[in-house]
Amino acid sequence: MKGQKNPISHWLENVEFDDFLFETISRFREERYTISGPEPREGEPQEYVVLPTRDVVVFPAVTLPLFITRESTHRALEDAQEQNLPVLVVAQRAPDLEAPLPEDLYEMGTEVLIGRTLRLPDGTLSAFVEGLNRARIVRFTQQRPYLRALAIPILEGNPQGVIVEALMRVVLTLFERCVQLNPNLPEDAYIAAMNIDDPGGLADLVAHVLDISLEERQDILETIDPVERLQKVSLFLGKELDVLELENEIHAHVQQEMEKNQREWFLREQMRAIQAELGELDDLQRDINELRAQIEKAHLPPEAREKAEREVKRLAAMPAAAPEVAIIRTYLDWILSLPWNEYTEDNMDIERAAKILDEEHYGLEKAKERVLEHIAVRKLAPDKMRQPILCFVGPPGTGKTSLGKSIAKALGRKFVRLSLGGVRDEAEIRGHRRTYIGAMPGRIIQTMRTAGSSNPLFMLDEIDKLGVDFRGDPAAALLEVLDPEQNHAFLDHYLDIPYDLSKVMFITTANTLYSIPPALLDRMEIIEFPGYVESEKLEIARRFLIPRQLEAHGLSDYGLEFPKATILRIIREYTYEAGVRNLERAIANICRKVARRIAEGKRAPKRITPRMLEQFLGPPQNMYNEAEKEPQVGVATGLSWTEGGGEITLVEVMLMDGKGMLTLTGQLGEVMQESAQAALSYARAHAADFGYGDVDFDKLDIHIHVPEGAVPKDGPSAGVTMLTALVSALSKRPVRPDVAMTGEITLRGRVLPVGGLKEKIVAAHRANIRHVIIPKRNEKDLVDVPRRVRKGLDIIPVDHVDQVLAFALLDARERDA
Ligand code: ADP
Repeated sequence: MKGQKNPISHWLENVEFDDFLFETISRFREERYTISGPEPREGEPQEYVVLPTRDVVVFPAVTLPLFITRESTHRALEDAQEQNLPVLVVAQRAPDLEAPLPEDLYEMGTEVLIGRTLRLPDGTLSAFVEGLNRARIVRFTQQRPYLRALAIPILEGNPQGVIVEALMRVVLTLFERCVQLNPNLPEDAYIAAMNIDDPGGLADLVAHVLDISLEERQDILETIDPVERLQKVSLFLGKELDVLELENEIHAHVQQEMEKNQREWFLREQMRAIQAELGELDDLQRDINELRAQIEKAHLPPEAREKAEREVKRLAAMPAAAPEVAIIRTYLDWILSLPWNEYTEDNMDIERAAKILDEEHYGLEKAKERVLEHIAVRKLAPDKMRQPILCFVGPPGTGKTSLGKSIAKALGRKFVRLSLGGVRDEAEIRGHRRTYIGAMPGRIIQTMRTAGSSNPLFMLDEIDKLGVDFRGDPAAALLEVLDPEQNHAFLDHYLDIPYDLSKVMFITTANTLYSIPPALLDRMEIIEFPGYVESEKLEIARRFLIPRQLEAHGLSDYGLEFPKATILRIIREYTYEAGVRNLERAIANICRKVARRIAEGKRAPKRITPRMLEQFLGPPQNMYNEAEKEPQVGVATGLSWTEGGGEITLVEVMLMDGKGMLTLTGQLGEVMQESAQAALSYARAHAADFGYGDVDFDKLDIHIHVPEGAVPKDGPSAGVTMLTALVSALSKRPVRPDVAMTGEITLRGRVLPVGGLKEKIVAAHRANIRHVIIPKRNEKDLVDVPRRVRKGLDIIPVDHVDQVLAFALLDARERDA
């Protein structure tokens, strides 16, 4: 083996070393090396008593107890001791053979010294043996009663040199690590190994201690060359170390996990104990369990679910008294009580829908038609169509809300409404972030909770009353709500998870279009509710309002009657409106009073005659008949626009001796006061033309009053009316009673266009006025006026005040006539 080519290169390829060992070894890979010292040699053959072992390989230099159960082996041992014969321990190839024959034994065994023997209670003999040297069996000399054989003892060599040294160091280092990692390897074994200075002995010791198979042990025993033996052992060590390290890693990981869990468990228990002591236990725990169950059951989308679970986890880790607990609970309640992906099925039966709409509402053809079209298109292309956003515009009481309800009923959707009137803060729409004390979801999400389904019909009332101020623009948030591109993931600040509004059918309502933010207006389809004329109101009252109120007051069976004349009187003298809200209220009023009489056992009428109205509703509140009254001097009828629709407004002028003062009363705004001044200037400048050239304005006080003073009035459109009243008063010419007018005037007498023309004309129609004077440049707006309204009116477009006066003022003589 001396001078041989590097024999450890093979070994190096098979073992993994750490850097240090690798360096040590690799130094010798390149260099030539020598091994000196005596090589193993064979001794004289001699006859041995053979002790077969089942599963033990005895190595030289190792002391261990053998447990002998076989009778034949007992005999062998006894004879050997008595006759002082050399003993050879040889392993059998198959451990379970009871009486092994020569061929069942390995050839290589170990010559041993027998030490103390001990008979155990069960008959087993325990014998301490000390390995001396290897011996190879040449042939068996006896089989019975026990085996004897001729064998050649092999005497260990003791090779030396750097390479041997290095190899021994490697084995020792690996062995040390194994001992450290494996609690089953005795520390003493390592100490013993350190004290061995021959490589073969070290290999034998390590092989004895390591957990390797019988075959592997036998292989080591049969490897006579000490250096080669050491190499084999180091391979076993390397493998063992790998396994141990892996095991160790797994163990450490498991340990770590366990410690973490234990720690958490311990802390939680402690917390529970403290809470129990404080009497807070388990309410929270019960809540948490319940919440978990609810989350499990709810159809939350993944994002919401994740969030909810995270919050429950936070809750569980909190002491019950923590202030955050209530906040998180409220939040979870919100998430759990919202409808997520819970849809009602739309009823697409158009005939049925048409029937429902007609049954519940009189007229409103345009709106009904549009809604039916909508259903039809949805039916044909269910997914393709975007939800259009309808905007119902018209004065109060014209059936916008109640039509919305009917649509919901026809479609089979839930109905919810939200009033936007006075909403100024974006947070009202979108909510406050949870960091904000007392934070809540915005009104959209709140309303969705009330709806209880993810696709309700959602009515946004008074979209024209939306405010804007420093707290952000609610219209911008609303845009997001209504925008089909964005509303599938509407983000409420409080919820902080996207909420799908895309299946909601939005309908907005407004009294006027003027104050709707243009960006919003852009997204909506406008449907007008212009208000009702007298005949329509009569029909609505008969068919809907009266039966409904009778029912509500328990009078259906009593059979209270409202003759036509009575209804008309209520409409004309007690309610003055575009819609039917007050009409309904008046009817309710009467029903209530009748019901009370019946309940009190007093006599109650069966028929409400027109004359009874005073008794039930008090004196008439209306100037319906104004138009039919006598022509008067100094009083003209104007038309004004309010959010409640159009209205007729009187302008009164009184002249008194004085010092040329102009007094304006009736809560007139600045613009209106200016137009009064302009009217007066015009009236003075043209005094001669109008036949009062002799009036001395310096000695005259003029008072202009616009009654119904509680309501502030403004705007320039009363210009023509004030001028007419003034000229009438000055010229003493009466004003035609059946004419109403609107228009701004310039100092040179031109009549300028005004806003809200449609509403004004409808109001004039309602007030039974026959002639309406309007600015010529407003003529184009007439297309908006419902045809049935226009039909009953004589509309007179003018561009100069002279035309107004010529028409509106009667001759003084005519009055006298
Ligand atoms: P809006 O929302 O336009 O202010 P509402 O929908 O509240 O008005 O209507 C007021 C009342 O008048 C409701 O009781 C409604 O049923 C009734 N009403 C209005 N228009 C009609 C109509 N065309 N047919 C039947 N009832 C009507």
